[in-house]
Amino acid sequence: MSNLNIQITLSEKKKDKLPTDQLVFGTTFTDHMFIADYIEGKGWHNHRVVPYAPITLEPSATIFHYGQTIFEGMKAYLSEDGVVRLFRPDQNMKRMNHSADRLSMPQIDENHALEALVELIKVDKEWIPKDPGTSLYIRPFMIATEPHLGVSASKSYTYMIIMSPVGSYYEEGIHPVKILVESEYVRAVAGGTGNAKTAGNYASSLKAQEVADREGYSQVLWLDGIERKYIEEVGSMNVFFKIDGEVVTPALNGSILDGITRKSIIDLLKHWSVPVVERRVSIDEIREAHRTGKLDEAFGTGTAAVISPIGEFRYQGELFYVNNGETGELSAKLYDALTGIQKGTQEDPFGWVVELNKK
Ligand SMILES: *Cc1c(COP(=O)(O)O)cnc(C)c1O
Repeated sequence: MSNLNIQITLSEKKKDKLPTDQLVFGTTFTDHMFIADYIEGKGWHNHRVVPYAPITLEPSATIFHYGQTIFEGMKAYLSEDGVVRLFRPDQNMKRMNHSADRLSMPQIDENHALEALVELIKVDKEWIPKDPGTSLYIRPFMIATEPHLGVSASKSYTYMIIMSPVGSYYEEGIHPVKILVESEYVRAVAGGTGNAKTAGNYASSLKAQEVADREGYSQVLWLDGIERKYIEEVGSMNVFFKIDGEVVTPALNGSILDGITRKSIIDLLKHWSVPVVERRVSIDEIREAHRTGKLDEAFGTGTAAVISPIGEFRYQGELFYVNNGETGELSAKLYDALTGIQKGTQEDPFGWVVELNKK
């Protein structure tokens, strides 16, 4: 089946592993990483697993100047019985290619990318934490490496995968966060790069996040770039509201990132016969739903937190509390269902999970 020839060089010295309760997100990396190179005309080559280490690039490499870079975020889970599971990895690879296309970067072979990932996980399997809520965070990414200051797409690229063991996102159980509605800065506009996972979207979001931090809010709620009226996302998560019994989430409009957690939640809700719609949602509608007591729940969704319940919004000085600042029933149910499927403790009616070493 495989036509990928992956060269494996093992590290001579294994790093010490931290207890999972001391892990800080994205700061500890496993012993190895995957690398492949691309040159126009030659394609992808030199697929290799090597010890995790710094890489060398020309200071003139395109990535440093014009930001041609894309990434993905996914997780591997280890269950009690030693089975390693990935959640919808095909969707990550597909989205990587969508992002690559938007940034004028080369396509990857989605099957090869998955094969490379499985190989890397095999080599660093002992790094996958097992405790409840923990996982191995996986970061595939691609950078433009051509040493050339002209503004044009690079002719050479490097694709890499690094992995980081992560502790439970919710040390003290799932709990709601406070959100500041951002009405000055915007994250993305339709026609831009908002629906690609590319660095510039995150760099340009940091300023608003700084303000939110200062005011004691954990994330910002992004509004649309034209009218500052329609809701887009929360921080780097998609966002859902339960209004008067119906679940609504902003429809994909070109500037919203097409989250895999988002689409999984829509499918789960449909499976449970909970009414769910994708449409435009304005901040005024949320204010009105709050005023009339119909704003039942709100939550963000993404690979890192899975579900992040929202307990409070601040919009132009007004406060909207959601469900008395407590985690809603549906939010909790969705969290349990999705994490249960990911860990293999619950049935997977959609065939979302890929088991790597099932006996
Ligand atoms: C990655 C990401 C999401 C969530 O996507 P998942 O596939 O669910 O992890 C949402 N919004 C932004 C801006 C993102 O970068």
